[in-house]
Amino acid sequence: MQPLIYSTYLCLYNSRMLITTLFFDVDDTLYSSENGLWGAIRERMNEFMYERLHLSPQEIPVLRHKYYETYGTTLRGLQLHHNVDPDEFLAYVHDLPLHAFLQPAPELRTLLLSLPQRKWIFTNADSQHAARVLTLLGISDCFNGFVDVRAMDFHCKPEREAYKRALTISGEEDPRNCALLDDSPRNLAPAHLLGFFTILVGTDKPHPAAYKSIPRLLDLPQRVVELWNSNETLAS
Ligand SMILES: [Mg+2]
Repeated sequence: MQPLIYSTYLCLYNSRMLITTLFFDVDDTLYSSENGLWGAIRERMNEFMYERLHLSPQEIPVLRHKYYETYGTTLRGLQLHHNVDPDEFLAYVHDLPLHAFLQPAPELRTLLLSLPQRKWIFTNADSQHAARVLTLLGISDCFNGFVDVRAMDFHCKPEREAYKRALTISGEEDPRNCALLDDSPRNLAPAHLLGFFTILVGTDKPHPAAYKSIPRLLDLPQRVVELWNSNETLAS
């Protein structure tokens, strides 16, 4: 993290801002991190490593941490080091009763539809999981498309390649015209350096990789009102 670089981009945003495309993470961004779903997915990953790979309960957290730190996701490490079939892994870890965690979110739907930009899902999960989440929240019709782990050819945030593919797939190749909303500062950091307008979701606390921090997406109209007037200055 280099404050000088971040300051440079702040100056850039002060002089010019036209946001055409919004990228949304899914897990812990579209829904509250307090609902337990992401914890349940993590537990399914542990079960997969125990049942299918016969790793010991002591090894699993160590490897999960190592793969997350090294590759961005557990799946990437399991593909490279354990020859895991990604389709089998993704189906297993997302085999959960999502309706027990997610309810329709009409306020979120109204908010998303009020945003004038094109809206894309940008997730390290697969589009099947993302589509199930959107359906249960009642926001399936609010997005132009998905950039998921398969579309990224199993690259993933925070790999720089993931952001480049997201830009290409969305058809908006200038990152300065894009915003990324994500609950992970680690995932925001490369986007910030590429020129995205970055919004950290899930906290009030400022972070050097985020131009704005918001506790919930529903706080956007109060905290990032400029998204509705995106040719105005966003950095303040
Ligand atoms: Mg997330």
